[in-house]
Amino acid sequence: MKSFEYFKPQSLKEASELLIKHGENSHILNGGTDLVVRMRENLTTPDVIVDIKGIKELHKISYDEKEGLFVGACVKLSDMAHNRAVVENYSFLADAAETVGSGQVRNLATMAGNNCNASPLADTSTPILALDAVVCIYGLNSEREVSIHDFFKGVRKTCLSHGEIVTGIKIPAYKDLKGVFIKNSRRKEVDLSTVCTTVAKVGNEIRIAMGAVAPTPIRAKEAEKLANGAELTDEMINKIADTAASEAKPIDDVRASREYRIEMVRVMVRRSLEQLRD
Ligand SMILES: Cc1cc2nc3c(=O)[nH]c(=O)nc-3n(C[C@H](O)[C@H](O)[C@H](O)COP(=O)(O)OP(=O)(O)OC[C@H]3O[C@@H](n4cnc5c(N)ncnc54)[C@H](O)[C@@H]3O)c2cc1C
Repeated sequence: MKSFEYFKPQSLKEASELLIKHGENSHILNGGTDLVVRMRENLTTPDVIVDIKGIKELHKISYDEKEGLFVGACVKLSDMAHNRAVVENYSFLADAAETVGSGQVRNLATMAGNNCNASPLADTSTPILALDAVVCIYGLNSEREVSIHDFFKGVRKTCLSHGEIVTGIKIPAYKDLKGVFIKNSRRKEVDLSTVCTTVAKVGNEIRIAMGAVAPTPIRAKEAEKLANGAELTDEMINKIADTAASEAKPIDDVRASREYRIEMVRVMVRRSLEQLRD
């Protein structure tokens, strides 16, 4: 691994100033489970690392019946997955977090890192897309909140500017919410998703999010249109699943062929809808 300078600031201001001072080749370190792997493989070769784990406010997780859930950027996936409010109110987000890597990985990894890494197959991305999450961002000159729908810009690309730091992810409160997360991978444990989906039901509204089928995780908008207000008969479920599959535009890669992924979307969306109906 190439040598680098390491900083562990105690405030967001200090962290952002360091990133700006050292320019584009300074990188934020959170749990490190993506970044350090890339550094070991010389895929990312930072001159400067800014470790944000010394910033106390980023370790907060809170839930309020009106405001919903806030997961600070440095909250470990293992803590989030076992948090009572998450398990009781957003069980499918907890399920998704529990599928990331191994126990050791989840004791370091964060949901902010999982999404800032902007991989199309990140396991916590489809639940938060289905939940219309909001990403809270600190910048030296301004703070902003960005809908998760505007956060991903492409493979490994987000809307963040250099020097900006995600402080946490907000998820609205829902009164009548159910959801199903399904991960398809080659191995049952410690494997990346070949395809992942989240299907959520908010009252009568159906939301369908899919990962590893496009350059970013996406919502199946046409399938959602078809589903909303419709009675979930077997025939309708098949139509919705077919439509979701037609919206998936995956690639062939080492994990699976394009055709396999499309077929899995169909199966996973159908099974999720059946589960939500029954
Ligand atoms: C063995 C192994 C198995 C894995 N299995 C899975 C899996 O099954 N599913 C899956 O989705 N992922 C998996 N991963 C990938 C990884 O664990 C996750 O993506 C993890 O959630 C990343 O979080 P982190 O805190 O470790 O991020 P880091 O590695 O610290 O950061 C990732 C990227 O996000 C940026 N970043 C981090 N935090 C912020 C912030 N607050 N503001 C702005 N930018 C930020 C960093 O600069 C970096 O570019 C695996 C990794 C390993 C090593």
